[in-house]
Amino acid sequence: MNDDRCHETVYPRDRARSFHPHCCSRKAVKDGFCKQHSPAKQKEKEAGWKRESVIRDLEYDLEEAAAAIVKVAIKRRVECLPKIAKAVDGYLAVKAKLDAARQEAAK
Ligand SMILES: [Zn+2]
Repeated sequence: MNDDRCHETVYPRDRARSFHPHCCSRKAVKDGFCKQHSPAKQKEKEAGWKRESVIRDLEYDLEEAAAAIVKVAIKRRVECLPKIAKAVDGYLAVKAKLDAARQEAAK
C-alpha cells in the first residue's frame, strides 16, 4: 500500500462496473486519509445524519400527538376536555423538542 494514498476502502456506487470494494485513490492529506474520508469529516457527516434522523422521529411523534388530540376532541364530550388538555400538552412538548432539534441542526 502506498502511504501517500488515502486508506479508505470505497464501495463503488456504480454497481454495473464492479461489485468489489477498492482503496480510495485520492491523495492522503491528513492522518492517512484524503480530504473526503478524513475521520473528522466522517464524524461530522454522521452527526449530521443522526440529527436528521432525530428530527424525522420527532416529526413523526408530532403527527401522532396531533392525531391523539383529534381522536379525543372528535368525541365532543365535556368529560374529554382534561384528556384534550393533556394531549395538547403532549403535542407542545414534542413541538418544543422538534424546534430545539431543528435549531441545533441549523447551526
Ligand atoms: Zn479517500
